[in-house]
Amino acid sequence: MRFGGLVAVNNVGFSLAKGAVLSVIGPNGAGKSTLFNVITGVYKPTAGTVTFAGAEITGKPAYDVVERGIARTFQSSRLFGDLSVLDNVIIGMHTRTRTGVLDALFRPAASKREMAACVAKAEALLKAGSGDLYDQRYRPAGALAQADRRRLEIARALASEPKLLLLDEPSVGMDETETDALVADIRRLRVENPELAVILIEHDMRVVEAFPDNVMCIDYGSKIAEGSFATVRSDPRVQEAYLGK
Ligand code: ADP
Ligand code: MG
Repeated sequence: MRFGGLVAVNNVGFSLAKGAVLSVIGPNGAGKSTLFNVITGVYKPTAGTVTFAGAEITGKPAYDVVERGIARTFQSSRLFGDLSVLDNVIIGMHTRTRTGVLDALFRPAASKREMAACVAKAEALLKAGSGDLYDQRYRPAGALAQADRRRLEIARALASEPKLLLLDEPSVGMDETETDALVADIRRLRVENPELAVILIEHDMRVVEAFPDNVMCIDYGSKIAEGSFATVRSDPRVQEAYLGK
């Protein structure tokens, strides 16, 4: 992915199996978020391909990518601050619901039933995660504390029933206890849905250490190391990339 003269992501080839977790680490500006933007159709890459579940999705529009089963959170929160916590989760479901404006007009009963099912599902997602988002479900999302905003972003992403979940620095703004709860949340998700694949961009090594099998380090847009957390951590290029900044 090039931006003018800058090559933001270059040759970061990888594949990920169902149910696997990949942790992506690397210094600020390494190209981690750009990688997510390329996968999710926010940017169309200048070269290379993205393949998901057997189909090439390179440069497909973001809504199409979500429909195919890829959901993400953003490094800086993109919640609708004026809407309630519950409504923010329901918005995440729109790709999985059939009810549209016409249904609401011509099939009001079916539309109402489907809406009730959406609310129930959103409430279940809010109850399942750490924190007390369910108790805060009628508050505006903008009023939430930082850790709760991060949790809500994840709940909203899960509302689209993804096969692949991309988390961009989910622990930012969390203290140690909240970070441990985040790790527990991700572990629980994997137990409940063994086929869910997760890519995690993380700065907090506590989180990376919790998912140590599959780690990739990128620097200046290129992959400089991959393997287990132990292998990547002890790689001299990785240490240099972090120390040099
Ligand atoms: P990271 O998430 O690893 O901190 P980013 O992927 O956000 O890094 O950025 C990688 C590089 O690409 C940075 O130099 C950044 O300034 C640049 N970049 C990202 N998005 C754009 C864009 N839309 N236009 C121009 N440059 C961009
Ligand atoms: Mg980033």
